[in-house]
Amino acid sequence: MIQDIAPHKLKNTFDPEARPKSGDCLIYYHKGEMAADLTEDRLDFPRAGAREKDLPYLFSIDDTAFFLASEEPKDCAMHPMKEFRNRPLLPKEYVFAAFTAMHLAEWYQHHRFCGCCASVLQHSKTERAMVCPSCGEVYYPRINPAVIVGVKKGDCLLLTKYRRGFSQNALIAGFTEIGETLEETCAREVMEETGIRIKNIRYYKSQPWGVASDLLTGFLCEAEGDDEIRPDTSELKEARWVPREEIELQAMDYSLTNEIMAGFKNGIL
Ligand SMILES: [Zn+2]
Repeated sequence: MIQDIAPHKLKNTFDPEARPKSGDCLIYYHKGEMAADLTEDRLDFPRAGAREKDLPYLFSIDDTAFFLASEEPKDCAMHPMKEFRNRPLLPKEYVFAAFTAMHLAEWYQHHRFCGCCASVLQHSKTERAMVCPSCGEVYYPRINPAVIVGVKKGDCLLLTKYRRGFSQNALIAGFTEIGETLEETCAREVMEETGIRIKNIRYYKSQPWGVASDLLTGFLCEAEGDDEIRPDTSELKEARWVPREEIELQAMDYSLTNEIMAGFKNGIL
């Protein structure tokens, strides 16, 4: 999965004392694009020089710190985020860094003013948060919980294709609503998207997914009762029971969805 970058390590502990030093990575993100030196097999980020003094610290990969730049760097082109995602030769730790940085960059961009009193927010000096100097409100990075559900029926898995956007095989997926558990999200989303009732819902693994500021939680379950699929055609182009041996995996092994599909295809799940 995208976060499996060993032996490299993401260090996400906030360091209020961190200041950019020469050679650290700079993240500049604007409207779905990020500044990078990006080719089919090379990915690097703009690097801090002597000029950068006081930028928000994001995280480190191993000993390389990443900071949020406020101006578009002159020496790197802007690239749509999907260009970081579909190139198997790129260094995976930097692909993960790009999407993690995107999550934080969007959050910072959306938290410039206080939602309570409209004052300009300031960076906290002690933690990763934005604070309101007028009313004291504190804002922390937002992470949206969502589920990915592998629905089994004997030797088949319920596969879908979205009507818009991503064109490869997918599983049932959706965001958790207010007032429900993750397991209830699974049951509701599977029912809404396919009309299938489920049982024996079991947690599998999770995955940070900066694309939609979410934390994906993967589950496996079994269809119960009537297994006729009634797809929600506003969201899905296709939903069908696919035998193990016929499951076509995604082109990249980045997603939790693909790991669940591969596990079922190979008889592990
Ligand atoms: Zn305020």
